[in-house]
Amino acid sequence: MASVSKVIIIGGGIGGLTLARACLDVGIAVELYEKRGLDAMLSGPGGIFIQRNALRVYKLLQSGQIYQRFYHSGGKILKGGFFDRQGEPLYINAPQFIGEEDLGVCLLRPELQQILLEALPEGTVRTGVAFEKFEETDNGIRVFFSDGCTVEGDILVGADGLYSKVRARLNGRERLEEPVYSGTCCWRGYFEGSGLPLDSQYSWAEFWGQGTRFGYFDVGGGRFAFYAFHNTEVGGNDDALGGSLNALRSLFKDYADPVPAIIEALEGEKIYRDDIVDRLPLGSQWGQGRVTLIGDAAHPVQPSIGQGGCMAVEDAFELASLLFTNYSGGDTIPSVLRQFEASRTQRVTRVFNSSRQVGKLAQADTALGCFLRNWIYKLTPTRLADLQFKWLFDYQPQWN
Ligand SMILES: Cc1cc2nc3c(=O)[nH]c(=O)nc-3n(C[C@H](O)[C@H](O)[C@H](O)COP(=O)(O)OP(=O)(O)OC[C@H]3O[C@@H](n4cnc5c(N)ncnc54)[C@H](O)[C@@H]3O)c2cc1C
Repeated sequence: MASVSKVIIIGGGIGGLTLARACLDVGIAVELYEKRGLDAMLSGPGGIFIQRNALRVYKLLQSGQIYQRFYHSGGKILKGGFFDRQGEPLYINAPQFIGEEDLGVCLLRPELQQILLEALPEGTVRTGVAFEKFEETDNGIRVFFSDGCTVEGDILVGADGLYSKVRARLNGRERLEEPVYSGTCCWRGYFEGSGLPLDSQYSWAEFWGQGTRFGYFDVGGGRFAFYAFHNTEVGGNDDALGGSLNALRSLFKDYADPVPAIIEALEGEKIYRDDIVDRLPLGSQWGQGRVTLIGDAAHPVQPSIGQGGCMAVEDAFELASLLFTNYSGGDTIPSVLRQFEASRTQRVTRVFNSSRQVGKLAQADTALGCFLRNWIYKLTPTRLADLQFKWLFDYQPQWN
């Protein structure tokens, strides 16, 4: 096929930034355009689990430099588990059964973004530039931005997230339809761990109540990210309660420590609230012609198994790897992009289904449902529970 010498990426989230690095690693030029200003691009709520499937990608990129920096800034994923709201253990992981010393790392989102940005040569990322539309030319793709500028490249990748405009334009639309609401909203932020009654044997813990749950995890440097879920109406806010801190106080008042103590420690900290949504899988074709999608633009999932961003990382690696390997083949550029999409479909669909299933179980909101959920988790042998996601964590990225 004609070689790909320049990729245009829309979106500077984890997917777009990782793809930029992966392309540069295989000698393909990239330009990344992000609609937000730099400060906003480097912000983000709470923390993120980079689990071992995605972490293996970073071991390969830039000779492992990103991987090293993650461990320098972040918190290692170690022993942790699910508890009922009184603090009784329901499931505690047993990393030794999985046979990996490295389960992954958790980072504050702004630190993740900063590390990924700093892994790119200056000038690769242009911020404050919003994608507007594209058109195919005789031998490439032309991209139009809202400020009237245009650029040209060999392929266009929409890494522009849940409300992807690239995906909307592929469907001949101005904007995408609303995503599917899960019935749950989520608060996120972070806190300093010192002085709080956290059990030091756990790097992460999640407490399950009735229609609510609260979790926290180590993000390095004595800091912890938290998240709290609540089954409620779409589009809600905490104004009537005088803010998110009061909403959390009221929802989690009958939880055992450390949950109420953590909530009190959030006084004065920024707390983000979002509705939890996803989109039904697209099937085996995500793009058209010289345009493809990665990450949330193609397959947003509920966060119940902490894999949305990890899938974006895998997508980024697999796309760069395929563009590299097909340089001298007989395929056309569009056919290589369709191969990429088809190769990812089964895996991301499985993650979508698992995320919905786990979310539904964890957010049980009847007394019977909670009893059954807790009973299932208590009685399932740890080894079996850990093995259920073996298919996910067995991912072994390789440059072809
Ligand atoms: C509560 C919660 C917890 C989660 N926890 C985890 C976790 O622990 N582990 C995990 O792997 N995943 C987790 N996820 C999922 C993860 O956050 C997403 O899957 C991931 O951020 C998607 O990355 P992305 O790069 O595809 O999109 P995004 O991060 O959404 O980035 C898209 C970028 O595109 C930009 N953009 C949008 N439109 C345009 C335009 N027109 N022009 C230019 N730029 C544009 C946006 O400004 C943005 O910077 C969680 C999600 C939630 C809601």
